[in-house]
Order: sequence, then C-alpha cells, then structure tokens
Amino acid sequence: MKKIIKVGNLEIGNGHIFIQSMTNTKTSDVKNTIEQILNLEKYGCEIIRVAVKDQDDALAIKQIKEQIHIPLVADIHFDYKLALLAIENGVNKIRINPGNMPKEHVKEIVEACKRNNIPIRIGVNSGSLSPDIIKQYGVTAEGLVQEAIREIKLLEKFDFTNIVLSLKATDIKTFIEANRQISKLYDYPLHIGLTESGTVTSGNIRSSYAIGTLLNEGIGDTIRVSLTGNPLNEVVSAKEILKIFNKYSGATLISCPTCGRTEYNMEKLVAKLEPIILNFPKPVKIAIMGCIVNGIGEGKEADLGIAGGKNKAVIFKKGEIIKTVYEENLLDEFLIELNKL
Ligand code: SF4
Repeated sequence: MKKIIKVGNLEIGNGHIFIQSMTNTKTSDVKNTIEQILNLEKYGCEIIRVAVKDQDDALAIKQIKEQIHIPLVADIHFDYKLALLAIENGVNKIRINPGNMPKEHVKEIVEACKRNNIPIRIGVNSGSLSPDIIKQYGVTAEGLVQEAIREIKLLEKFDFTNIVLSLKATDIKTFIEANRQISKLYDYPLHIGLTESGTVTSGNIRSSYAIGTLLNEGIGDTIRVSLTGNPLNEVVSAKEILKIFNKYSGATLISCPTCGRTEYNMEKLVAKLEPIILNFPKPVKIAIMGCIVNGIGEGKEADLGIAGGKNKAVIFKKGEIIKTVYEENLLDEFLIELNKL
C-alpha cells in the first residue's frame, strides 16, 4: 500500500496524480511570483515549487502563501538555514537534494518539519549525486537509488517518515530504471519527471515517453514536465500526458495538420481556442479541421467540431452539421455551442 503524504490540503499517494510545476521568477519578487502562480493555478497546476536561494526568498514565502491557493514547496540546496527559515514562513513541503545538503544538518531540518507537520521530498538528481556515490556507482540508475536509500535511512533514523521521493535524471533510461527500482523498495509517494528535459518541443517528446512509461506501469504520484521557458507549458503538457492514461478529465483538442485543401485561417483559430479548450472543465473531444471534404468524417468522434471552407465554416456535433457560419463569426458561434456541452 502506498503511503499517503499530506502536502497542504492534498494527499499525495491517494491514486490521483498531481500536476506540479516550478516558478521561474525570483522568489523574492513577490508580485511576479504570485502572478505566475495564480496563472499556473488557473491552468491546473496543483502543487508549486519555488527556488529558495537566499534569505529574501525564504522570507517571501509568507506573503506568497497568503495569496495563492495551492501548496507551496521550497527548493533548498546547500544551506539548511534556508530550509528552517522557509519552514518558519509557512512552506508546505521542503525539497532537499541529498547530493548537496550536508548530512550533519539534516536532523535540524527534520525536527523543524516534525514540529510543523510538513513533509520532505528527497530529491535526488543525476547532475548532483554525492561524490562517493558517483565513485562507487557512477551516474547510473543504481547510483540514484543508492543516494536515495542513504537519505531515506538517515531520515528514518530520526523517526521521520513524512517523505516524498524523486529520482530525476536527464538520461531517459537511467530515469526510468531508477524509478522502477525505488518504487519496488519503498512505499513513499514518488514525484516523477526528467531533469533538464529540454525545450517545449524536445522536452515534451522526451518527457512524454519517460513519464508515460512509468505512469503506464502505475509508477508516479505527482509529475512535472520540466521545460525551458514559461512554466505554463509544463502544466499544459502534464495535463496532456495524464489524459493519455485517463488520469485527467479535461477536454481534448484534436486538429488536423492542414493541407492544400484548407481555405481558412485555421492556425489562428486553433491558437485562440487552445487555451479555452484546455481549461474547459468537461471531458469532451473537440476537433478543429481544415476542410469540409474530409474534416467532418475524420472528426466524427468529436463532441463538437469545426470544418472550414472558403469564407465560411461548419460547426458539427458527432459528425452532424449543426450550423454554417461566416469565418468572422466562427469563434463566437463555436463558443456558444461549446458552452452548451
Ligand atoms: Fe487536409 Fe482536410 Fe485532412 Fe485537414 S481535414 S488535413 S484540410 S484533408
């Protein structure tokens, strides 16, 4: 049985796979950090992590927490005092990296987490394994697992089991193998995701394969698709991956690639509709197609669809045309129908 770990008001390990992301603002820039988190919340982010690299970042946590609605995780490297300060300021979870957090100070972090009843994520990373682990195992799946085991044992020695694990790697095979191994050894919830996975294009491809492989095996309790750039992309991508496994019940957008038969500005329309559809709360399938000739047939599984023509387009439901509209009215008319679903 998976251990359930409370992070704020959420229960990690209860079967729901939580979407996580990380801000890319400076945490002490409270205004922009809050703005980014609120936007991420709107798109479905359920847990947010912030980098805490100095005192100002740790102190900002209090103000940030007052204005956001999802649990806040502090990412701490090297300096245990920053962990203590983040805890004092009300953070919901601490992430420590066993590769760079001195062992002699872990007890103090553990005691503060116990007092405040917050969990610790042991976040092992292929880029920062301890030198002795690298010497013995190299940067391998086994190395990641051994680093995690050593830290788990340390925390358990202090009678602390309020633990979430993550074993991240840049190399996909290493990542998958390490998570397979650790999930057999412990029942602590697992946060999964590649590290430095890449840009929106390369990172999405790599992450969907890596995370998808593990989800398909029932491994993973929270996910982060780490991507360079706006973290909003991470949340959108996480949703798409979860949809593949029926773990997220939002709307799905399908669209054709367009071809020489397309006679309207479909790309512009899709760009406008995508954020609306991604936030639509019902598990419906929406098809945006480039032409009437093939579009309706190919999109007939969709609950609602558009197939464009010259200056005009049709709106269809399960392959049946319900409206023919001029291109300039298309978006408005479509939204009327969407909201009837
Ligand atoms: Fe081309 Fe029409 Fe197929 Fe889109 S639906 S790819 S426009 S044939």
